[in-house]
Amino acid sequence: MARTAVSGRLIWRVATLATIRDETATARTLSFDVPDWPGHLPGQHVDVRLTADDGYSTQRSYSLASDGGISDGGISDGGISHGGISHGGIELTVQKVDDGEVSPYLASVLKVGDPVELRGPVGGWFVWRPTDTAPVLLVAGGSGIVPLMAMIRARQAAASRVPFRLIYSARTPADVIYANELRLPAGGLDVHYIFTRNGTGRRIGVADVNTHGWPADFEPDCFVCGPTGFVETVADILVALGHQPRKVKTERFG
Ligand SMILES: Cc1cc2nc3c(=O)[nH]c(=O)nc-3n(C[C@H](O)[C@H](O)[C@H](O)COP(=O)(O)OP(=O)(O)OC[C@H]3O[C@@H](n4cnc5c(N)ncnc54)[C@H](O)[C@@H]3O)c2cc1C
Repeated sequence: MARTAVSGRLIWRVATLATIRDETATARTLSFDVPDWPGHLPGQHVDVRLTADDGYSTQRSYSLASDGGISDGGISDGGISHGGISHGGIELTVQKVDDGEVSPYLASVLKVGDPVELRGPVGGWFVWRPTDTAPVLLVAGGSGIVPLMAMIRARQAAASRVPFRLIYSARTPADVIYANELRLPAGGLDVHYIFTRNGTGRRIGVADVNTHGWPADFEPDCFVCGPTGFVETVADILVALGHQPRKVKTERFG
């Protein structure tokens, strides 16, 4: 069943916005009811298509924030199983890009009950499976936290003991998405923040990855997600620190 979720034929489905949760002043989580959602693996994304009354249509990719409801190769009863929610749906978290075409609409305009078309789940490389056993390093820039949060939630849902480390770069503490959930004590999950615009703001560097990541000798699975420049910087640092390129999986948000 898990294989079906990864490589099944993709069709457009009409999803209905079920709930909205503000994460920060500019990011919100949208939970959708999706008929016949096949389940997904943490790290996968969907394509969202919006069509205007005049027929103009545009689409963007959004990572799945919910854990996917897949564990040990089987799909459980629903796509959302964290935070006490459990129904056949999915969650996306959208960061508003001020001059953007699609994200301001999803993050500010879309109302509960409104439909959107979506297609997925997409992607089979940038995924973590609860059956994986290597230590995990997650490195997020901004909204790049979204697919990595799905991995953290899947780890928790599966009661996995695989140790996770998260390095999360955000502009300021107020821009941290999922701040409350990341504050909850979770055995085996270490979180380190880097703030780029809070006075002493600075960019991620070798020392951060060296100190708060895993030694290359541990052969961790590394997942890096965020803006292209951020992802390339971190991937270069990891390879320079001795990590095998095949263990460094990246997702660029553009
Ligand atoms: C696989 C994948 C998964 C993604 N998952 C998420 C997600 O979970 N949450 C999320 O919020 N976004 C995610 N994105 C980014 C998303 O697809 C859009 O690119 C983003 O929402 C901007 O779209 P827009 O139509 O508002 O902006 P556009 O109209 O496309 O662009 C407007 C301006 O903003 C710039 N821009 C475009 N994207 C970004 C960005 N991400 N950050 C800063 N500036 C940008 C453009 O260069 C342009 O100048 C993902 C992208 C990919 C490829």
